[in-house]
Amino acid sequence: MNRDRYAPSPTGLQHIGGIRTALFNYLFARSGGGAFILRLEDTDRSRYDAAYEQNLFDTFRWLGIEWDEGPCVGGPFAPYVQSQRLAIYQKYAAELLEKKRAYRCFCSAGRLEKIRAEREAARSGETGYDRRCRNIGDEESASRAAAGEAFTVRLKIPLEGDPDDSGEGGEQVTRFTDRLLGAIEWKNADINPDPVLLKSDGFPTYHLANIIDDHLMEITHVLRAQEWLSSTPLHVILYRSFGWTPPEFCHLPMVMGADGKKLSKRHGATSIDEFRRQGYLPDALINYVALLGCSYEEGKDLYSPAELEKLFSLDKLNKAPAVFDYKKLEWYNGQYIRMKTNAELAAASLPWAVEQGLFEKDDGGSFALYTAAMELVRERANYLCELPEKLGYLFAEPPLPAPEEFIPKKSGLAAAIDLLTLGKALVAPIAASSCDGEAEALVKARSEASAVKLGDLLMPLRVSITGARVSPPLFGSIRLLGEDAALKRVDAALAALKKAAL
Ligand code: GLU
Repeated sequence: MNRDRYAPSPTGLQHIGGIRTALFNYLFARSGGGAFILRLEDTDRSRYDAAYEQNLFDTFRWLGIEWDEGPCVGGPFAPYVQSQRLAIYQKYAAELLEKKRAYRCFCSAGRLEKIRAEREAARSGETGYDRRCRNIGDEESASRAAAGEAFTVRLKIPLEGDPDDSGEGGEQVTRFTDRLLGAIEWKNADINPDPVLLKSDGFPTYHLANIIDDHLMEITHVLRAQEWLSSTPLHVILYRSFGWTPPEFCHLPMVMGADGKKLSKRHGATSIDEFRRQGYLPDALINYVALLGCSYEEGKDLYSPAELEKLFSLDKLNKAPAVFDYKKLEWYNGQYIRMKTNAELAAASLPWAVEQGLFEKDDGGSFALYTAAMELVRERANYLCELPEKLGYLFAEPPLPAPEEFIPKKSGLAAAIDLLTLGKALVAPIAASSCDGEAEALVKARSEASAVKLGDLLMPLRVSITGARVSPPLFGSIRLLGEDAALKRVDAALAALKKAAL
């Protein structure tokens, strides 16, 4: 059974890249009847923020991605929050010291900074630690630690001449197979020289905590962003140092902006919060993000979560980077808006309706009207916030437009008054009609009988009812407003036109 995980560090808002990783892990687990684990990698305390942790939970809940094991739900390997597992990492760091696969480093932060500055000044190109403490004898190391001297624990990257089995042909290399990228080979000399595993305050670094937890939590597959590929040789060395078998690695294709650069704020919204505020539906985001770097059926765009869970497979991943296309995502959102019921759309867009001042949050009568009005706008909106934007006239009388607005092309004020008078007689039957087809037949018959163009007949009526020449469908608007309210608007417009004609 597959066990995979999403292991975010709560040091920022959840963004497209992270959610893509989470979603692929989730779908992979679901597709094989496995388990999807959420693990909080919160050991970088200087960048940790509780607000980001909350954002993680809120985002997952909003997207509807549920985890089988992790914070809030628990599981057989709890706790799933790394800051609550410090003793475990310390125990395993001690084991590596014991096995001589790691060593204590007593270099102060000041010394490390000095090396860095000297190398920079000399433009040596060298980076990382100079391995000064690597050869301190066991006894000296133990006694300095016992005397209370501060130390970090560093991994011994196997180098030429070391008793390690990963070296071949005289040169130390680390090899592993990435499920997507194939055979990967890394010279040990090119790996971060003896990275810190345990800091002097007893906190682990990402590398140590990450691989210990993947091992203890019996993770079988690590699906993660390609930016972690360069850390993987180091992880493989760590697994071997413990004598453990590494999980299968699969580094996911990058997500780029249209310009071929890594997706970032310069391209547009990237945090899920921002998409949510802009009026995207979670289903639309899920559908679109599921296709970022993964090909399903040729020519098919829309997939329900259940279909994705069934169809996902690592064999469908693309090596080529995925391009994040904001226009395409907008299209998806429009499609998903059209698939929702009126009640779902009204509920999802309610915060915008209230914010735009259409009605108060607890006004049940207005909400019922708003729900029915979804029918008028669902075909035209691509964002939830656009739904209420077009409907203000249903909740408050719009300001009466200037008389010219009522006058059809190549016509005059007197004609507009005549047309609106004709239109007024149509209000009651339109309000009583049961559908647009019935209302249209009525209006057509009247325009033919009176020898006026259909458009000319409807235009002044539309302006008096909705306050604008372009509006959501007129017949539906009249039906929702009701005969009395609609007639009141027409009368007010007629009075204003007549006054202007004097
Ligand atoms: N904590 C790492 C992150 O923030 C996890 C990377 C991994 O999946 O190994 O993405």
